[in-house]
Amino acid sequence: MLAAVPANFKAELVACFGQPVAENPTGAMQEAAFRALGLNWRYLTVEVPAAGLRDAIAGMRAFGMQGINLTIPHKVAVLEYLDEIAPDAAIIGAVNTVRREGGRLIGENTDGKGFLRGVRGDAGVDPANKRVVVLGAGGAARAIVTELALSGALEVVVVNRSAPRGEQMVADLASKTKAPIRFEPWRGTYAVAGDTDILVNATSIGLYPDVDAMPPVDLAGAHRNMLLCDVVFNPPETRLLQAARKRGLRVLDGLSMLVYQGTIGFELWTGRKAPEQVMKQALREALGLMP
Ligand code: NDP
Repeated sequence: MLAAVPANFKAELVACFGQPVAENPTGAMQEAAFRALGLNWRYLTVEVPAAGLRDAIAGMRAFGMQGINLTIPHKVAVLEYLDEIAPDAAIIGAVNTVRREGGRLIGENTDGKGFLRGVRGDAGVDPANKRVVVLGAGGAARAIVTELALSGALEVVVVNRSAPRGEQMVADLASKTKAPIRFEPWRGTYAVAGDTDILVNATSIGLYPDVDAMPPVDLAGAHRNMLLCDVVFNPPETRLLQAARKRGLRVLDGLSMLVYQGTIGFELWTGRKAPEQVMKQALREALGLMP
């Protein structure tokens, strides 16, 4: 005789709130992960205008949703609607992932953590005690510099075109993390010094449609063991990565950070280990990178 199994047709819900949001590929990789683990979860990609965020978060609470991702223009604005902000997200000043703990909504930032997981896991480099140069002082740079500082980098040098923006970010993060972070203005071509262990392009230079753009950096002085990382993932093979490969340098593309910010989110929401390979493949397919 068959044992009666209580029916459960209720799906758990997570979502991405943003505007524009239609081209965000995160849902494809999260849904693939849910399928792979046999979880009855759904990831909804939802267009929410800036003026609708308060109601959207109230809706999230009413629906008992398990979590959300936030993208433009909500990453900073969402802070005031949450019950708690994780310490690193508070330093960064932005939240890209919300998780639920009982009835409480907790803001996290997985961008910088995703970057570090890629550096450690895909490139096999531990940033502790390393000299790191980060190009850029926008949202991505801020998350990356914060996590590098918290993971014991020997020194983080921020190089940015707009000096006031770079100086302000460095002063803020140095005081909050007590880590050795300093600023260098980006004038003309930035010559990479031989003692740089990791160079990160955290600017949007090279991003579609400006795919032929190349950050003005001179790699001639780079140490042969230096790791060069690019956060631009569309396209993943940027001019900068090509230039580094030609010099025989190790490289890490922006897909790595993109997939791992998602695997960390998946783990925060479900409490399960993320199926990384499934998510990587789904992301590549979603971006049209599979043969
Ligand atoms: P922001 O607009 O916040 O910052 C852009 C940064 O790029 C600024 O530092 C800006 O310098 C610099 N920049 C832009 N154009 C130039 C230029 N021509 N010359 C010199 N500097 C320039 O963007 P985000 O930080 O949000 O995003 C940056 C990149 O990171 C994007 O390509 C985005 O797609 C990518 N990203 C990737 C993620 C991933 O998971 N792989 C996650 C998040 C973002 P200035 O201050 O002088 O204007």
